[in-house]
Amino acid sequence: MTSARATETGVLSQGRAAVFEEPIGPSGVPGAVAVEIRAASINHLDLFLAHGAQRVTPPRVIAADGAGVVRASADPAWRPGDEVVIYPVVCDWECEWCQKGENVRCPRFGVVGEHSDGTACELFHIDARNLFRKPKSLSWTEAGAFPLTFLTAWRMLTTRARLRAGETVLVVGASAGVAVAAIRIAKHLGARVFATSRSEAKRTRAVEIGADDAFDSTDFSKAVRAATGDGVDVVFEHVGAATISESMRSVVQGGRIVTCGSTSGVKAEIAMPRLFWGQLDLLGSTMGNVGEFKAVLEAIDGGLRPVVDSVYPLADVEAALTRLDAAEQFGKVVLSVP
Ligand SMILES: [Zn+2]
Repeated sequence: MTSARATETGVLSQGRAAVFEEPIGPSGVPGAVAVEIRAASINHLDLFLAHGAQRVTPPRVIAADGAGVVRASADPAWRPGDEVVIYPVVCDWECEWCQKGENVRCPRFGVVGEHSDGTACELFHIDARNLFRKPKSLSWTEAGAFPLTFLTAWRMLTTRARLRAGETVLVVGASAGVAVAAIRIAKHLGARVFATSRSEAKRTRAVEIGADDAFDSTDFSKAVRAATGDGVDVVFEHVGAATISESMRSVVQGGRIVTCGSTSGVKAEIAMPRLFWGQLDLLGSTMGNVGEFKAVLEAIDGGLRPVVDSVYPLADVEAALTRLDAAEQFGKVVLSVP
């Protein structure tokens, strides 16, 4: 493979890493064993990157999520041997917005693994303020699985959609990492949760991990209305173009639709009367603030758990990305150290 080589540049000179080198899909991200970080996990973002859709010039170490052990620290807050998880946001920590705890509005806001080198590597360098103690209740695999999706879903459901216990939530496209996080978080917050998927096996999995019921993706608003009468209070969206019309048909008058992505295409068509006549809130959200990451960690201490789909050695990063590309996964695809 012409693009297969371990990076020997910059901060990664002490180890090998999974580096995006060519915008040709999963085969453009060769991997090699040896990880400082104990576990990292991949997201749809890494696929967009691997396909050349993110305007990132290769090489770039991929992956936003990571958990590992501190080897050395110039900041007294951390000592060698400390077990940590990474808040997966790039920001300057200094601007007016960061000072107010609104990291998502930082002028230098970005995602680890897209706007900086990511976690799929042996030795990862990041600001001490991005580090938090690894929850003791999580395995390394789980600790490397939850950060980006749980942060994103947490902000969507709590800060943006203001979900309350006893309300109903519909999570569309239930097998994606962020959707699985949403099912777990919505249940944790005391909501009644429905999910959709094209796959019967994935609908079964959605119920197994906590959804009250799961419906086929085709014309799902009919099933939602049959189950709820007048619709759900909140729709959790990330599919976009392919599902937004049905999502808008699934929500109660005055309900909220919150979205963090549009994996089925960047442009969507919506029926405007449904928006204004329905008194709907259509809410955008991306990633989350450091305070929201702390809230996720507290929820984990209170029993919230990620769902790991599969674990691949770093050397098999191409297979891991291919699994994500084929939408075969349910939950997180994790890269692990042997
Ligand atoms: Zn800032």
